[in-house]
Amino acid sequence: MAMFLMMPSVWSIEPAGRVIQQDMIHLRNAEPREWTSFPQTAEATQLNLQFDATANNDPGTLTLTQADVKESWTITLNKQPLGKLVRDENRLQTDFLIPAGLLKTGQNTLTIACRKNAPADDILVGQITIHPSPPESLRGAATLQVAITDQNQTPTPGRITLTNEHDILMPVGNQSGNHLAIREGVIYTATGEAVLGVAPGTYRITAGRGFEYSAPSTVVRIAAGETVKRTLILERQVDTSGWIASDTHVHTVTYSGHGDCTIEERMATLAGEGIEFPIATDHNRQIDYQPVAETAGVTEHFTPVVGNEVTTKHGHFNVFPAVADGKLPDHNQLEWSKLFDDIYTQDRTRVAILNHARDLHSSFRPFSPRHHLSLTGDNLDGWQQEFNAMELINSGAVQTDPMELFLDWCGLINHGLNVTPVGCSDSHDVSRYIVGQARTYIKVDDRVPGNINVKKAIDSFLAGRVIVSYGILVKLEVKISDQNVRHGPGDLVHFNTENGVDAQKMVAVTASVMAPEWTTPNELRLFLNGQTKFSVDLRNQRRNNAPMSATATWNIPISEIPHDAWITAVATGDGIKSPHWPTAKPYQPDSPTFQPHTFSCTGPIRLDIDGNGSFDAARDYAAKLLAETPVDTATKQPDLQHLARSLAQYDEAVVHQTLAILASKGIEPSHLISSGVGKRGRAFERQWRLATQARIEQRE
Ligand SMILES: [Zn+2]
Ligand SMILES: [Zn+2]
Repeated sequence: MAMFLMMPSVWSIEPAGRVIQQDMIHLRNAEPREWTSFPQTAEATQLNLQFDATANNDPGTLTLTQADVKESWTITLNKQPLGKLVRDENRLQTDFLIPAGLLKTGQNTLTIACRKNAPADDILVGQITIHPSPPESLRGAATLQVAITDQNQTPTPGRITLTNEHDILMPVGNQSGNHLAIREGVIYTATGEAVLGVAPGTYRITAGRGFEYSAPSTVVRIAAGETVKRTLILERQVDTSGWIASDTHVHTVTYSGHGDCTIEERMATLAGEGIEFPIATDHNRQIDYQPVAETAGVTEHFTPVVGNEVTTKHGHFNVFPAVADGKLPDHNQLEWSKLFDDIYTQDRTRVAILNHARDLHSSFRPFSPRHHLSLTGDNLDGWQQEFNAMELINSGAVQTDPMELFLDWCGLINHGLNVTPVGCSDSHDVSRYIVGQARTYIKVDDRVPGNINVKKAIDSFLAGRVIVSYGILVKLEVKISDQNVRHGPGDLVHFNTENGVDAQKMVAVTASVMAPEWTTPNELRLFLNGQTKFSVDLRNQRRNNAPMSATATWNIPISEIPHDAWITAVATGDGIKSPHWPTAKPYQPDSPTFQPHTFSCTGPIRLDIDGNGSFDAARDYAAKLLAETPVDTATKQPDLQHLARSLAQYDEAVVHQTLAILASKGIEPSHLISSGVGKRGRAFERQWRLATQARIEQRE
C-alpha cells in the first residue's frame, strides 16, 4: 500500500475525452435504502444529465464508472438507448458505443434509469466521458501481453484482473473467444496467455488461479502504440494434495438462459479458477461439458460431470451423475417423496443436493421456520428428507449470517441423516459471481485432474470425506491416544477394544486452518454435536504477506464425551475486498449492513464412544430414552420427570431431539422444561415458538 501511494505520477495518463460528469452520483430507484454503506438519502432516483456537444459524424464512445449495480439500468442518449449498465456490484468502468450522428450540436440529454417496479437498488455512477473514437479503437490503442505461469515456468490457466489506481475494473478491447473469457477488467485465459487491447494508461495487472494460489500483481504504464509484456508467476500456497476441488453448482447462459457466461467461456473460467471436478447443473437440463472442453483444449485441467439443477416449486436440487440429454426427473413434481424416487431411479444418479435452503424461490423457502426446525432437522410437513447433501455456502447467493446454513446442517446430522456439506458457486456469470469461489474439496486421488475416478470421487463425497471452502480451508484429524490411525472427515472412529471402552484414553483432535496470503482467517472452532466445544482466536497468528497455516490440537479424555457424538471444525474470516477475488454481497440479505466473510468446515467425524460398533445420532438416543420412559397408565403420558432425570447424562443435542419428538406428539416443550430439563431446553422452545407462529401466519 505504501508503494502504491509513493508513485502517484505513474497513474497520470488517461486517454483524451470530454468529461460530462466527473463526480460519482448516488442513485436509488426505490425505497428503502439497500445497504447502510450508502447515505440515508440518495441524490436522485435516476440520472438526467444535460450537456453541450457538437454533432458527431463518426461513432464515438461513452465511458462511465459504476458501482453496486444489481438491477437492470438503461442508459439513454437523446432518447436512444445505448445499452444497460453491467449488472455487477463490483466497481468497474464500461463503454457504450455512440452511433454516428447521435450527438447534436447544442444541448444533449443523457438518462440512466432503472427498470420500472424493480426492487430497491442503490448505485453509484460517474466519471462519464465522451471519446471521439469507437470502443474498439479507444481500447485498442495499446497492447498488453500477459502470461501466467507456475513456478516451473509452465503456462497455466488463470484469471487476469485489470484495475486502475482506484481498484476499478478496466475494460479491454477484446471480446471473448480464442481461449479467453472477457468482462470489464476480468480476463480468464485457458492457455495462460492473453494479448489484450487497452487504452493508454496505467494499470495494475493481477494474476490468480482460485483459492490455492498466490495473486501476484504488477503496475504497468502504457502509451498509445506501445506493446508491453508481463509474465506473472503463480505460487502454490495451499496444499490440497489428496483432495480435488469441486464446484457442484455451475450454470451457463447457453443452457440456463440467464446470467452471461456461455458454455465456451465456462471452460476458461473453470480452468482459470482451478476447478478439477465441475458438475454441470443447468436448470432442468443435462449437459455434457466434455466435447466443449476438448474443443477448448482444457481437458487436462478438469473432469466434468453431467448433472441437473432439478428446479421445482418446492426447492432446487442438484443431482448427479446424470445422462447427457437423457430422461429428466419431473420438475413439476411437488411431493418430495415422489421427487426423490424419480431422482434416484434415473440412470446413474446417486447424489441429490438441497440447494440454497434459506432462499425464497417460487414463494417457497425449504428451511423457513414454517417448514423446518433448524436445531433438530425436523421437517414440519412430514416430508421425506431424502437429499443426501446440502449447500452450506453458495457464493453466488451468500447468506447474511455465514453460520445459519451450517447450523441447519448440524441439526440434520443430529437428526441422524447422512447429509454431506457442500460449498459451491451457483455462478451463471463470467465475473459477477466467480465460479468455484465457494467449493467442495473431495478426498480422492488428485494427481491427474483430467482423469478423476468419478465413481470413487462420488463414493467419497457421499461418505462425507469433504471440506467446504470459501476463501479459507480447515482440515481436521482425530487420533486415539494408543493408536496410530489418523481419522478424517467422513470416518467413523471406533473406541471399542476387547475389554470394552477404555475411559482413560484420550482423543487427540487436530485442526489446521490454511489460506493463501490474500485472505485472513480469524477464528477456528471445534463443534461437538453441533455445539461449540473449543475456539481459537487466529487474529494474532497471521504473518504479513505469507500464506497462513495455523494448527490447534485438543486432547479430550473419552470420559468427557458421555455418548456417541460427531465433530466438525469451522474456520471463519474476513471477507475478500481485493478486486481479483471479491466476496459478493448477500443475494437475499437479512440485513442492510454488509459484513463480508469467508468460511470453511469439514465433513463430520463420527465417534462411536459407546462402543456398539455403529454411530448413534442424538435422535437415536432421544428415541431410545423415550421408549424406556414409563407411561402413566391413567393419562397415557410419559413420565416427564423420569425422562428429565435420564437426560441429565446426555448432551443438549439429545435434549433438543427429545423435545422435538415430544412436540410431534403434541407435548409442548414447556412441559419437559418444567419437569427438570430447565434452560437446556430453551433454545428448542424458542425455535418451536417461531415455527408455530410462522405456520399460523403461513409466512415463508
Ligand atoms: Zn437454484
Ligand atoms: Zn443454480
